[in-house]
Amino acid sequence: MAAQIIDGKAVSASVRSAVAEEVTALKQKGIGVGLAVVIVGDDPASRIYVNNKKKACAEVGIYSEEYALPAETTQQELLDLVHRLNNDPKINGILVQSPLPSHLDENQIVAEISPLKDVDAFHAQNVGKIMIGDFDFLPCTPAGCIHLIDSTGVSIEGKNCVVVGRSNIVGKPMAMLLLHRHGTVTICHSRTRDLAALCKQADILVAAVGRAKLITKEMVKPGAVVIDVGMNRNPETGKLCGDVDFEGVSQVAGYITPVPGGVGPMTIAMLMKNTVTAAKIQNK
Ligand code: NDP
Repeated sequence: MAAQIIDGKAVSASVRSAVAEEVTALKQKGIGVGLAVVIVGDDPASRIYVNNKKKACAEVGIYSEEYALPAETTQQELLDLVHRLNNDPKINGILVQSPLPSHLDENQIVAEISPLKDVDAFHAQNVGKIMIGDFDFLPCTPAGCIHLIDSTGVSIEGKNCVVVGRSNIVGKPMAMLLLHRHGTVTICHSRTRDLAALCKQADILVAAVGRAKLITKEMVKPGAVVIDVGMNRNPETGKLCGDVDFEGVSQVAGYITPVPGGVGPMTIAMLMKNTVTAAKIQNK
């Protein structure tokens, strides 16, 4: 195996311990840090994410409240909760776990979260700020990926960076963060022609698609940094796996994130970091 494995658990632990120190320092100044997590319905994956987020809050000393609402919650009921949390001084960050049941309008809910409490950085105001490079919060998963790339010591500046996936929550902001760090960025998606040839040019390759083993070793430049955001179930084993064929790609890449134990833990660590940032902004 040629590639060095990027240990997301270790990198995220160091982020969380820095966050815990900040939380303690804020408490000494009389400033509490609080996160509200809202979950609607009983999606099992969402339940796991919410439990992990609550656990992470407890670990770093962040106060958390969970609102588990029934699947038949109306748009108005959810909006009322968001408005109440916007005005609750104990709560610095609000996270509405997606996906929401299909009868709810997620965009409207996100638009109603106070931009100062939008620790996911999904609100249009925060997205716009990221675009112009003047931001308070970075979206958790892309920010976590940048941390993982930095942990390798490989500089992003001037490198060919390829992001596969163009969602609003991962692919697009990921590309923007790489651009801010002076990468030369290509974004690929389902209509891209010759994905393999484009990926092969990448010094830094980020896969955020949701398809097991889409990225094979033939598509990877020797020595590249490969960041696997994907979270899929392996159809044969039923186990969690990424978008990258880890077995093959780890023979050619320079650095690679495993799934699990790569990007996933970073997403939660960055959420904790954003919640502290929110508390600081709100208590300026
Ligand atoms: P979306 O489904 O919103 O986006 C997937 C993207 O992949 C789309 O832009 C789509 O293109 C593109 N795509 C689909 N098929 C192909 C293909 N064959 N070739 C190239 N591009 C393709 O997913 P998300 O961005 O929300 O999530 C991506 C993955 O990351 C999922 O597995 C998700 O579970 C995981 N994830 C992991 C997180 C973590 O913390 N580890 C956090 C968030 C997500 P098009 O736009 O043309 O349809």
